[in-house]
Order: sequence, then C-alpha cells, then structure tokens
Amino acid sequence: MTDSLIAISHLLQQNEYVFIVASIIFGLMVGSFLSVVIHRLPKIMENEWLQNCLELQGKEIPSQARYNLITPRSACPKCEHQISALENIPIISFLALRGKCRACHTPISVRYPLTEALSGLLIGLINWKFGYTTLTPFAWIFTFALIALTLIDFDTQLLPDDITLPLLWTGLLFNLNNGFTDIQSAVIGAVAGYLMLWSVYWLFKLIRGKEGMGYGDFKLLAAIGAWFGWKMLPAVILLSSALGAIVGILLIIITKRDKEVPMPFGPFLAIGGISALFIWPTTGQPLFTLTIVTLT
Ligand SMILES: [Zn+2]
Repeated sequence: MTDSLIAISHLLQQNEYVFIVASIIFGLMVGSFLSVVIHRLPKIMENEWLQNCLELQGKEIPSQARYNLITPRSACPKCEHQISALENIPIISFLALRGKCRACHTPISVRYPLTEALSGLLIGLINWKFGYTTLTPFAWIFTFALIALTLIDFDTQLLPDDITLPLLWTGLLFNLNNGFTDIQSAVIGAVAGYLMLWSVYWLFKLIRGKEGMGYGDFKLLAAIGAWFGWKMLPAVILLSSALGAIVGILLIIITKRDKEVPMPFGPFLAIGGISALFIWPTTGQPLFTLTIVTLT
C-alpha cells in the first residue's frame, strides 16, 4: 500500500502533465459535488431554522425524510427521475444528454457543467502555479469553498457560517506552519478583514440608514485575511470593489436593474480572494517530503 502510494507520488511529481490532467479531472468531479452543496446547503439551513422556531414555540417537530449533502440521491426536480452514475459524469453527461433530463426531457441548467468546468479550470491553474507543494491541496480547499460561497450568495444573498467559519480556522491552522503567510500576519489579517467591512457597514448605515452588505461578507474577508495575511487585504478589497462597481453600473445600464436593490458583495470578494491566490509568490515546500514524512 505504502509502496504504491509512493509510486503514484513519484509519477505525479516527475510528470507535470499527468499531474495537471489528473488534477483537472479531480476538479471536475469536486465541481459536480459543489453543485449539490450549493443547491442543498441553503435548504438544510432553512430546515434547521424552521425546526428551531417550532422548538422555541414549544410545538412538535414533524418527522422529515433525511435530507443532507449525501442523501437522497440527486433527482430531476420535475419528474424525480433518479440520476444514475452514468448521467452524473461531469460535463460529458450534460453533452451526451444534450442538456435535458433523460426521462422527461426538461432542460438541465447550464450552470451545472459551468460550475464543473470552472472548478476543473481553477484546480488545473492552481497545480500549474503551485506544482507539487503543500500549498496546492490547501489552495484547492480555499477555491472550492469560494466557488460554493459565490453561487450560494448569488442565489440566496447568504454566505453560510458553515463554510466561512471553517474556512477561517483552516487558514489560521495552515499558517501556524507558515503556509501562505506567518501566523502573526494571518491573525491580524482575520481581525482586520472583519473590522474593515464592519466599519464600512456601520458608516453606510449611519449615513444612508441602509445596510450595504451582510455579516457574511465580514466573515469572508476575515477568512481571506486569515489565509493570506493583512498585507493582501488592500489588494483584495480594491479589486472586489472595483469589479462590483463596474458590474453594478453595467447591470443598471443594460438590464435597467433597480439601483436601490442591494447586490450581493460575496461573489466579488470571492473573485478578489481567488486572485490573491494567483498574485501570491510561489514558495511552497515540496509535497513529496510531506507525503513521505506522513507515511513513515
Ligand atoms: Zn425529469
């Protein structure tokens, strides 16, 4: 077992192309799972809130069918046809089915293959940038979390604590051992990230009497600060605000969007965060040493 792991490790380390192709396939598969998280996590949270409300009111909680990230199996929302493993191959199944449910021919959202493609592309780019180092798997975790947060925020205007807080802890833990930055810079980054947006929120609320963003945004920037340290925060904020402003203005001009309706800021912060990953200078430790240390 150890020998074969070392052999695979050697193959991936010595052949850059095998490593990148394997990681793109891995990215596509995780992208497929991310779609499930994006679709189900808000519903799971809503169920929990409803149960808490009933509990507070002293009412009986009705028994429900199990609903989590794994059960029940994915099904067509229209005809409830269960999606088989063959119909669930990233991108390929969507193309083979011509974007329609096999049973009732209802169109499948193009967002599924796009999420898979985005995830595959970003993971390929990460491996190309960081290579075979300890930074790579952590950069994956960071990116997967940010893709899920972006789409959940886009759908529901929520950035779930279930993702933002573990992301923050993971960043701090990784930097204990000088992952992307030293632990001092990471802790200050987490606090500063939170406080920066918190101050903007309260300033905006005092001056205009409205809420410009949510607490989820503060936690997301805190997480980004925990991963990359405080020095990266100005670049992330500048990039996200500029992008947010450009997209906001374009939406108002092109689609006549009501400018009073708040726009989720999370997706722009996430783009800023993922950009930070690529602005970062490559200084990872070779993953191979780490694998050997773990195995022996
Ligand atoms: Zn169907």
